[in-house]
Amino acid sequence: MTSPADVANNVFLSLDDLVVRTRWYIYLRWFILLAVILPGLISLYLPEGLSSQLIHDSIVGGVALLTNLLFYGLSYVFKKGRSLQVFTAAIFSIDIALITYFIYTKGGIESRSIIMYVLPIVMSAGIFGRMGVYALVLLSIVAYDALLICNYVGLFPSLSSYDPRSQTNVDGVINTIIFFNILFIIIGATVDFLARLLISKEQLATQRLNELLRAQAIAKFGSWEWKKDQDVVTWSDELFDIFGVEKTSESVTFAEYLEYIHPDDRQNALREIQHASKEETVFSFSHRVVLPSGEVRYIRSNGQSYADDSGAVTHMIGTARDITEAKLLEKAKNDFVAVTSHQLRTPATIVKQYTTMLAEGYAGEVTEKQQAFLKTIYDSNERQISIINDLLNIARIDSGHIDMKPARTDLVALLRQIRDEHAGKYQTKKQRLVFKPTYDKVYCYIDSDQIRMAIENLLDNAHKYTGAHKTVKIELKRKRSSALISIIDQGIGIPPQDIHKIFDLFSRIDNPSVLQQDGTGIGLYWAQKIVSLHRGTIDVSSEHKKGTTFTIELPYKALEA
Ligand code: ADP
Repeated sequence: MTSPADVANNVFLSLDDLVVRTRWYIYLRWFILLAVILPGLISLYLPEGLSSQLIHDSIVGGVALLTNLLFYGLSYVFKKGRSLQVFTAAIFSIDIALITYFIYTKGGIESRSIIMYVLPIVMSAGIFGRMGVYALVLLSIVAYDALLICNYVGLFPSLSSYDPRSQTNVDGVINTIIFFNILFIIIGATVDFLARLLISKEQLATQRLNELLRAQAIAKFGSWEWKKDQDVVTWSDELFDIFGVEKTSESVTFAEYLEYIHPDDRQNALREIQHASKEETVFSFSHRVVLPSGEVRYIRSNGQSYADDSGAVTHMIGTARDITEAKLLEKAKNDFVAVTSHQLRTPATIVKQYTTMLAEGYAGEVTEKQQAFLKTIYDSNERQISIINDLLNIARIDSGHIDMKPARTDLVALLRQIRDEHAGKYQTKKQRLVFKPTYDKVYCYIDSDQIRMAIENLLDNAHKYTGAHKTVKIELKRKRSSALISIIDQGIGIPPQDIHKIFDLFSRIDNPSVLQQDGTGIGLYWAQKIVSLHRGTIDVSSEHKKGTTFTIELPYKALEA
């Protein structure tokens, strides 16, 4: 069902637009009436003074001037009201009358003068839509026909000479009227056609924008754009809601934006943004905001910075999402994992101690068979403790309770060390672990213990998921502002349909060759978290049954403020 408001909107475009569009018309009017009044004003200084022609021009100019001023006054009083619409419609009617009067005083009843009517007809298309166009065409026809008839019957004799082509017989007048009326209708139809073409495009764009804004509201999703040189962050409507800020304009300043961020998260947000404003990059960070009501919201911001040809970042665009619900759920999950893992660790450690004591004969002689059973208990218990530790690590990292110890670290030395420590384990499967650095030193500012564990995770996987007698290579490459560490194996590979989920927590690929290996599906999740805390990424490329390459990209200044 079409609501009365929809009908009104089809006839009169959006009320907000009305003021803006009418202003354009009013600007044009200022120029036109200046052209009309100026000769009159100049002639005041001429010895012969004002001619009657100029007096009439000044009347036209004066009326237009008054209506212009009145429009400005009213547009401030009735910002969006129907009164303004009525007044705008009146301005157009007044203009048709003024044009007719102007033509009449000039005696220019000829096809050229019809051009003057075109301006209000065109403008009315932009302001009132097609109804406005045809209303003005009709008004122009009535006014112009009246002028032609008056001219014929000799009513209101023109103040200047009559048009030499003016008709003196009734057939001529009727023909002229028909000719001009058809001309008016053609002009109106053309304007209507072109305007509808433009308006439909504009309406489509507006409709898309509205859909986007509605979608943002449903998804609790806002978007923003920051122009660096202007210090303006343009916000979508939803972003104001997410931040709990009252919308007074379309944008906020960068300082205001920072002010809204929770003080404890501000430094990190600033660090991320400053980093992204140095070079074109993609970034992402979370922070909290405290609403005026005291409610705390969690926000996830994703963005991309763009640079000009010289490489200088000029602007950033991005999104911000209210992730409070997900955060609270995640917190509940983390608390659960942390508490249960903690509770599980104590008995598991006691099992380990007593198994060791039993194996060492503290409770009496142990037979060879019992010794073998105790070894199995011990190994399983070790695995259990390692899984519990993994879970505790996850809980720590997910709740942000991980203390980074940044230090300038030489990746070449670190990788050599890791290779040497893992070589033995690889040999048990007759595999080769190769690292042939092409640089002497590559320095990164990282937490070397954490990065070491992430790399070891990848190496353990490569070892697990690669058959005997195969080679696993570690490669180190340099980019402009980051280092690339690749672990390349010749193992079972990852099927393309599964590759997107391997970084998910507890995800293991559902195939026998994977499942016969020990695993929990925690390692990659954890490694990716650690690397992203270093503002880095882990990429994977794999060919099923041929091999897999994991590449860690680490910025040299990963943990530098
Ligand atoms: P898991 O403890 O199962 O190894 P991860 O999180 O380390 O857990 O890995 C998740 C899944 O990704 C693994 O179960 C395995 O299916 C797949 N995967 C990881 N690394 C490799 C690799 N180098 N080759 C083949 N598959 C791999």
